Amino acid sequence: MSNPDVVIVGAGLAGICCARALVKEGVSFQLIEAGDRVGGRVRTDLVDGFLLDRGFQVLLSAYPEALQQLDYDRLQLCAFAPGAIVRCDGRFFRLPDPWREPGSFMSSLFTPVGGLMDKFRLSRIRSAVLHKTVEEIFASEDISTMQALRRRQFSQAMLDRFFKPFIGGVMLDSKLTVSNRLFEFVFKMFAEGDAAVPAEGMQAIPRQLAETLPEGSIRLNERVHSISRNQVKLSTGEVLQSKHIVVATEGPEASRLLGFERTVSSRSVCTLYFAAKEPPVDEPMLVLSGSSRGPINNLAVMNMVAPGYAPAGEHLISITVLGWPSREDQTVVSMVRGQLRHWYGLVADEWRLLRMYRIEHGLPVVSPMEWQQPSRLAEGLYVCGDHRSTPSIQGAMESGRLTGEAVVRELKGQPDPVTRVKKDEPKLPEMPDWDDD
Ligand SMILES: Cc1cc2nc3c(=O)[nH]c(=O)nc-3n(C[C@H](O)[C@H](O)[C@H](O)COP(=O)(O)OP(=O)(O)OC[C@H]3O[C@@H](n4cnc5c(N)ncnc54)[C@H](O)[C@@H]3O)c2cc1C
Repeated sequence: MSNPDVVIVGAGLAGICCARALVKEGVSFQLIEAGDRVGGRVRTDLVDGFLLDRGFQVLLSAYPEALQQLDYDRLQLCAFAPGAIVRCDGRFFRLPDPWREPGSFMSSLFTPVGGLMDKFRLSRIRSAVLHKTVEEIFASEDISTMQALRRRQFSQAMLDRFFKPFIGGVMLDSKLTVSNRLFEFVFKMFAEGDAAVPAEGMQAIPRQLAETLPEGSIRLNERVHSISRNQVKLSTGEVLQSKHIVVATEGPEASRLLGFERTVSSRSVCTLYFAAKEPPVDEPMLVLSGSSRGPINNLAVMNMVAPGYAPAGEHLISITVLGWPSREDQTVVSMVRGQLRHWYGLVADEWRLLRMYRIEHGLPVVSPMEWQQPSRLAEGLYVCGDHRSTPSIQGAMESGRLTGEAVVRELKGQPDPVTRVKKDEPKLPEMPDWDDD
C-alpha cells in the first residue's frame, strides 16, 4: 500500500485494536511491526510441544473491552479455579473463593494466611467493588494499594501472605505501591469473571483480533527508526508517507519515537517454565509464595488450566519471579530450584527447564492521572498503548480502539483537541519540535 490514510507503529493489542476501529470505517492503514508476529507482549512460543506464553499472564474475562471485541467461545477460554493455594510456615494452605465454592468458607477461615477479621474485610472490599461502576472506581481517592489495605486494617499476615504475592503478581509490584484504583478495578474483574487463558495460548487473543484486518495491511519484521511530520522512516531507510501516524509501541519506545522528555518506566518480570512428569498441584489453582524468602512469587501448572499447554503425559509448570534479577540466569534457575526442592522435595530436581524469559518491559509505571489521556498529540499524530491507559490487556485494547476512533473523527474533519499539558501534571510528556522536512 503506497499512501495509506494512516500508519500505525506497533502491532500489539493497542495497534491491532486501533486498526480494527479504522477498518470499521473503511479507512486504509499500514501496520508496521518490528517483531515476526503480531501480539506484542501477548505472545506464545511452541517449545517441544509446550505452549509457553511470554510471561505468565491471564485474561480477566470481565474486562469490558475484551467482552466487546473478543469471541470467547472461539478462544475456548479455560479458567483458573478462583482462589489460591498459599505456601507459608512450611505448608500449603488452600484458600478457595468462598463465593464460588461456598462449602469452603469454614476451612479457609482458620489458616495462618490472615484471620477471621481479614476474611470479613475481604468480603467488604468485594461487595464494595461489585457495587461500584468502573467510572466510580477510577474517580475514587488516589492512594497506593498498600495504604488502602492498611486503612482497612488488614493484618500483616494477610498483607504479606496473600495481597503481596497475589496483587503483586498481577501488577508486577510486590510493594503494592500501585494505585488503589487499579487494585479495585482488578479486584472487581476477578469478582465478576474468570482469570482464564485461551486453549491455544495467550497469543490466540491478538491472532483473533487481527483476523479481520485486510490482507497486506500488516508488515512484520520492520522496525520504525524515526517519525517526523507525515513521515515514518523504517530502519531499512524506506520512508512511508501518511497524513496520520499512530504510535502504538510500548511506553519507552513511544517516548523515544515521540521525543517525550520523560521516559515511561517499566516493571520487569521473569517467567521460568519447567516440564514435569508429575504435577506438583492437582487442580487449576494459582500457588502463591506467602513468604518473602526465595525468588518465587507464584506458580501454576498450566495444563491443569488448559490441557493443550503440555503434550500428553507431561506437565507445564510456570513460575514467576518479580523484577529483573541482577544475578545471571543460571543462578536464578538454581535459586528457583532450591525453593522448589523446599516446597516439593527432590522430585523438583527432575523437572526439565524449558525456557526462562526475562521481560524488561512487563508493565508501564503509570499514575491514574495518566490513564485515559487523550491520544491526539498534534495534527495527524496519535499515541496509544497500555502506558496511556490502565496497564493491562483491557487498557491496551481500549486505548487502541479509542485512538482509532479519534483518527476517524479527524479524517471526517472533526478532530479532537490536541492534548495540553496541565500545570498540575508536570510529568506529562511534551511534544518535540515537529520538523517539516
Ligand atoms: C509478563 C507479563 C504479564 C502480564 N500479565 C497480564 C495479565 O495477567 N493481565 C493483563 O490484563 N495484562 C497483563 N500484562 C499486560 C499486557 O500484556 C499489556 O498491557 C498489553 O499487552 C500491552 O499492549 P500494547 O499494545 O500496549 O503494547 P505491546 O504489546 O508492547 O505492543 C507494542 C508493539 O510495538 C512493537 N514495536 C515496538 N517498537 C517498534 C518499532 N520501533 N517499530 C515497529 N514496531 C515496534 C513491538 O514489537 C510490539 O509488538 C502482562 C504483561 C507481561 C509482559
